[in-house]
Amino acid sequence: MSDTRPARLSALRDALARANLDALLVSSLPNVRYLTGFSGSNALLVVTAKECVLLTDFRYATQVQEELGASASVRIESTSLWTGLWAQLAALNGVERIGFESMHLLHRDFARLLAQGARWSWRPTTDLVETLRVVKDAGELAHIERAVAMAETALRHTVPMLRAGLTETAVAGILERHLRDAGSEEFPFATIVASGPRSALPHARASDRVLETGDFVLLDFGAVAAGYCSDITRTFVLGRASGEQREVYDIVQQANSRASGALRVGMTGMAADAIARDYIDARGFGEAFGHSLGHGIGLEVHEAPRLARIVESPLAAGTVVTIEPGIYRAGWGGVRIEDDVFLSDAGPRVLTGFPRALHELS
Ligand code: ZN
Ligand code: ZN
Repeated sequence: MSDTRPARLSALRDALARANLDALLVSSLPNVRYLTGFSGSNALLVVTAKECVLLTDFRYATQVQEELGASASVRIESTSLWTGLWAQLAALNGVERIGFESMHLLHRDFARLLAQGARWSWRPTTDLVETLRVVKDAGELAHIERAVAMAETALRHTVPMLRAGLTETAVAGILERHLRDAGSEEFPFATIVASGPRSALPHARASDRVLETGDFVLLDFGAVAAGYCSDITRTFVLGRASGEQREVYDIVQQANSRASGALRVGMTGMAADAIARDYIDARGFGEAFGHSLGHGIGLEVHEAPRLARIVESPLAAGTVVTIEPGIYRAGWGGVRIEDDVFLSDAGPRVLTGFPRALHELS
């Protein structure tokens, strides 16, 4: 695979020129990783029209050389990255107006810019790098597909072990162990296991609740491959499903397949969301779908674009988004079915292959 970093830096430099900035201070670690390949937990990156300088600390001296290649020059700071930053900026000629990432800079660090960094003029920016990250290249798509495969392998190993008497945390442990066995580097978010009435909580964490026959069991989890995330939800029934459970499950499954199949380049996030929402509404459960339809995935598990009621921007070719309609009824339970979908000019391609049909666990 060819090195994509020069093209990413070049696209960022075009954006800096359009924003009339001499440089950008990148403090978001996923953005640092996207631009340079560095995956450590402490870094500041300065990008100018000609230079790209990464500051990190002694712990990463070996790793940073391996990961960066020629994408940036490296400074290992023995005290504070900020002390190093002032020295680096002073050495860069012609740099006056510098953007900072207003979504990712702590107020404490902003105060540093105004105090020790007062000789430069600081401008807030939003999403300069995030905008570039929306469209995935072939290498990024391959990483996401690997993360999807890991998650599905883990799920296939976990499903036969689900039974009444296990706690939700025990189920999370089984699933996470299989995610690790499948090669997942870490967990993109705390694995959600929500059973019985708790499946009505869209963002439940696994609890000490014991699974009972007749429960919905909702699993929402993901894997990480080369920094890229997958994000999948499946909902099962422990034992035989009731008529009401079947009905609700069927609506969510239909909403999922309609939205996944209808996704098109140029469609607004709002229009995509409406496909699932209008269907659920027409089936009488509009009030019970209280979150948005989906979100981009990549180096972060929630990133642009969003598929939501208020999003008017059109979907670009090359994005990977989740499609995750749900119905939640307090005290009764809930169903969510979440797939990962790659969108290109050829249409949508659902990356998740795990069956969506109602699965009654015996
Ligand atoms: Zn999820
Ligand atoms: Zn999600």
